[in-house]
Amino acid sequence: MRVSVLIPLPLTGPYDYLVPEGMALARGDFVAAPLMSRQVIGVVWQVHEQNTPPEGLDPAKLKKLIDRLDVPPLNDELMAFVDWVASYTMTPPGAVLRLVMRSTSALEPPRMQIAYVLSGTPPPRMTKARQRVLDILRDNLPRTAAELAQEAGTSSAVVKGLAQAGALSPVDRPADRPFPTPDPAFGGVELSPAQAAAAQRLIEAVDARQFSTVLLDGVPGSGKTETYFEAVAAALKQGKQALILLPEIALTVQFLDRFADRFGCRPAAWHSDLTSKERRRTWRAVAQGKVPVLVGARSALFLPFPDLGLIVVDEEHDPAFKQEEGVIYHARDMAVVRGSLGHFPVVLSTATPSLETVVNVAQGRYRHVVLPERHGPANMPQIDAVDMRQDGPERGRWLSPRVIEGLRKTLQSGEQGMLFLNRRGYAPLTLCRKCGHRMKSPDSSSWLVEHRLKNRLVCHHTGFSMAKPKTCPGCGAEDSLVGCGPGVERVAEEAADLFPDATVVIMSSDTVRGPAAVERIVEDMLAGNIDLLIGTQIVAKGYHFPRLTFVGVVDADLGLSGGDLRAAERTFQLLSQVAGRAGRESRPGRVLLQTFMPEHPVMAALIAGGRDGFLAAEAAAREDYALPPFGRLASIILSSRDPHAVEATGRALAKAAPVSEGVSVLGPAPAPFALLRGRHRHRLLVKAERQINLQAYLSAWLAQVKPPNNVRLAVDIDPYSFL
Ligand code: ADP
Repeated sequence: MRVSVLIPLPLTGPYDYLVPEGMALARGDFVAAPLMSRQVIGVVWQVHEQNTPPEGLDPAKLKKLIDRLDVPPLNDELMAFVDWVASYTMTPPGAVLRLVMRSTSALEPPRMQIAYVLSGTPPPRMTKARQRVLDILRDNLPRTAAELAQEAGTSSAVVKGLAQAGALSPVDRPADRPFPTPDPAFGGVELSPAQAAAAQRLIEAVDARQFSTVLLDGVPGSGKTETYFEAVAAALKQGKQALILLPEIALTVQFLDRFADRFGCRPAAWHSDLTSKERRRTWRAVAQGKVPVLVGARSALFLPFPDLGLIVVDEEHDPAFKQEEGVIYHARDMAVVRGSLGHFPVVLSTATPSLETVVNVAQGRYRHVVLPERHGPANMPQIDAVDMRQDGPERGRWLSPRVIEGLRKTLQSGEQGMLFLNRRGYAPLTLCRKCGHRMKSPDSSSWLVEHRLKNRLVCHHTGFSMAKPKTCPGCGAEDSLVGCGPGVERVAEEAADLFPDATVVIMSSDTVRGPAAVERIVEDMLAGNIDLLIGTQIVAKGYHFPRLTFVGVVDADLGLSGGDLRAAERTFQLLSQVAGRAGRESRPGRVLLQTFMPEHPVMAALIAGGRDGFLAAEAAAREDYALPPFGRLASIILSSRDPHAVEATGRALAKAAPVSEGVSVLGPAPAPFALLRGRHRHRLLVKAERQINLQAYLSAWLAQVKPPNNVRLAVDIDPYSFL
């Protein structure tokens, strides 16, 4: 018998192997196979009943598989998903399979551990500690010596002594602890009538056991999470698994506890910060169907759930769902694909839906469930603009008098404030007062950002950093380098100066590393130990701080410059989310946006609460220019250490572009980041009408030009980043 095996490497497709006598194999099985002189693990992608190899393949040359692994096989749904993602993103299926096989040790036989149970023989001599150990084991659950010692408050020598005396019998137990089972009937809040009606529609979608996509659309604090928990409960009652995708792992901290309030235990979690041991434990348990609910970042979408019944994509509009390296995919869109292949519903939850989703709702592809109001007495905060042309701060300062006044009142009444600026570090640009020399990253086209807390100049794109020089590298002048513009550290400095008695804390990805650090800040906010939180976009995400009533946005215009087609949409989403942190309980919230363009449609929509009008205007503009979601885009990024090679390849590619009605090719042009980690970058943008099969066009085109070995080519379907 011959089988095709997909190997988790970026090869063109599955490889064929012979099955040794006596090895029973089915599609989806994990196998060990020889490849070159190595042994690799792959998945049986196809079983060929007849051993007539495809043309050009000599059966005598086929190698034999080595082994079949004792791991639950992948199901058809996930295999179809891998193929689908590969063909949509134009990446080799093996590269997508690698996303599924994210824990190699999970594929090894499970590690066993010695644990103890009661043997029935009493020990010859009894002590209090011995008695405690024996009492604990009466429930028949095997425990290791270390676990027993801890539970009994004694040493493991006592446990070993009991074993030697024959009172305990050793048994083998898998080293990985099982996950607790969430209880759909454990707890939960009493839903308001609007929430209950919304929950009912989600439950119906789950109970239908069919594919559908539902937009759960509600202002921040309207109870979307409580509402979709009911859909999760419905999936659990069916004995199916549920997956909740969050854009940012920092968010999971508060989330895990909220989940535990509703379901009695924390769900499993999946993100890049897991230790390899946790990764193995979680992957294996997922594959065995022993993880009823998992919360994770985008990569969790590729876990081998045997019987998914629901995916929730929380904050569906968040750009963090787009994976920009390796296999370039959008986790929200691919979640919808997995739902359609697996015949289960997908719930997209947000207060500020993406334009793509809004259009899908308008065209009837997605259902729309709305929660129009904040829960309980809370109202939406009042949002106003501070016109920086008239009411701006003093020279060299960043906070306007109105923001300072707002903060003062807030702090005086014992409430908390937040300042938002989407810029890490102290100053985004360092230049010489004498000669104007600007401190630039050596291997990328970006400025070095001063981080005063670390006392370094840092490149945010490559991680390069250096000490701030004493003398200007341009003219040699001493102490002439000054920071221009604000980052969160500089705003914090100003705030500390204005409010010397307040506790001011910075929250940005470089000051707060890892979920534990985030948890500490969240707890301090909840306990009232922080008066003023100053942060980048990580503070904008779903946190619920009851005492936070004032939000000041230091530079509301920041995201609007640049050529990104989603700049306005994203700025609106981000600022709505930041604003949504204020006044989430009984005390009313107030938000001030410092802007030089108070009349800009984004600001106007935020102030007047005109989300739908703003989105309609954005949609109309995109439709006029046939931009997504009304047309299709793909970008091709070429990069190389050799600037000439990259340019020449770009030109050759553009020349070879097939002429096709409804498709236009723009470029090549140097990318905005023309240099990144020492690689020169050029981009081409392909724009096509919606009905065109863009992947087919690209395959035909790219088949004609083979870039030289020193030029890397990456295809980004539905690009979100234009850098
Ligand atoms: P969203 O996800 O829409 O931002 P949440 O689900 O986080 O809203 O709800 C906001 C806050 O209000 C949370 O603390 C939540 O527990 C609380 N809440 C929402 N609905 C109810 C309810 N029906 N009863 C009690 N508390 C609720």
